[in-house]
Amino acid sequence: MQITVVGAGVMGLTTALALSERGFSVGVVERSATLGASACSRFAGGMLAPWCEAESAEPLVVRLGQEALAYWPRVFPGTIQRGSLVLAPLRDAPDLARFARRTTDHEMLDADGIAALEPDLAGRFRSGLFFRREAHLDPRAALPALAESLAVRGVSITFGQEVDPADPSLGAVADCRGLAAQDRLPDLRGVKGEMLILRCPGLTLTRPVRMLHPRFPLYVVPRGDGVFMLGATMLESGERARVTARSVVELLNAAYALHPAFAEAEILEMGADARPAFADNLPRLRPFGQGSLRVNGLFRHGFLLSPAMASRAADYFLNRTVSPEVMG
Ligand SMILES: Cc1cc2nc3c(=O)[nH]c(=O)nc-3n(C[C@H](O)[C@H](O)[C@H](O)COP(=O)(O)OP(=O)(O)OC[C@H]3O[C@@H](n4cnc5c(N)ncnc54)[C@H](O)[C@@H]3O)c2cc1C
Repeated sequence: MQITVVGAGVMGLTTALALSERGFSVGVVERSATLGASACSRFAGGMLAPWCEAESAEPLVVRLGQEALAYWPRVFPGTIQRGSLVLAPLRDAPDLARFARRTTDHEMLDADGIAALEPDLAGRFRSGLFFRREAHLDPRAALPALAESLAVRGVSITFGQEVDPADPSLGAVADCRGLAAQDRLPDLRGVKGEMLILRCPGLTLTRPVRMLHPRFPLYVVPRGDGVFMLGATMLESGERARVTARSVVELLNAAYALHPAFAEAEILEMGADARPAFADNLPRLRPFGQGSLRVNGLFRHGFLLSPAMASRAADYFLNRTVSPEVMG
């Protein structure tokens, strides 16, 4: 059976791979001329942090997200499994206690424990939480690795072609268009996120660090070679571009509080996109037409949830049933 996957963001690529691995003949169609050029996936931090996400996400996200920790090292050797660190300035210590209460699978660290994990943070924080089993990756390296795995399996990606998933000539379709699928999913909304990429050669961090703050929470994801991704704002807006001065100031202030070396950092990039999300911020599989499927609503968990969603999407094309936990 031939299936057309529409959209080559992380959801489309992982779905295409899952379908190919189950024996389907697959083709991917992407509207942009190059991989990731108009994909929200390009702006992601790439944190694979199911237990941290429990602080604000439903248990389903934690459960599905754990599948990502076995999946990504298999398909992308650049996946880094060094855990993640959650910190709070002394005045926000109650926020750290609250984060600890709402999450599991962490160890409480004192100042020595933090310094042992991240020597450049020595003396800066009195306590933190370490989520040992979490991981991270660089989305801009992971997407090409997925495309390469598809190419090896004979799955081609046709670039520069904008299609309507309802077009009958496409046959069975997996609609993985992210926020662009709002034309057929009226309950899908955008949640804008802004991010910065900085070069800060004076600082070494080896795992994602989240810094809690009542108004401006920050995460910093190391990309190697002194480069860091700083994210991310969360604004109820479908706007897919435009980074505001206020957001830059807030992100940089928080980064400076994490480590003053960020004051001297070079700003390499400022970017923004809108995360595709349903009202409850949970992902969905929604059948349509004659045996086609929409896969969407990954919200702030695209890299975390796409392995589980892709596997369940492939199950649908095999046996025409949708797992109840992601139906709707
Ligand atoms: C600042 C920021 C930080 C984030 N951090 C994280 C993080 O740390 N961890 C995490 O897991 N997630 C994170 N996310 C969320 C993640 O980026 C999204 O959940 C994910 O990218 C959604 O993937 P997608 O494949 O559904 O959509 P997209 O990545 O947008 O892909 C959709 C693709 O479909 C194509 N397309 C659209 N319409 C058509 C058409 N008609 N024909 C052909 N092609 C079409 C588009 O060009 C695009 O390439 C973050 C998001 C933002 C904005």
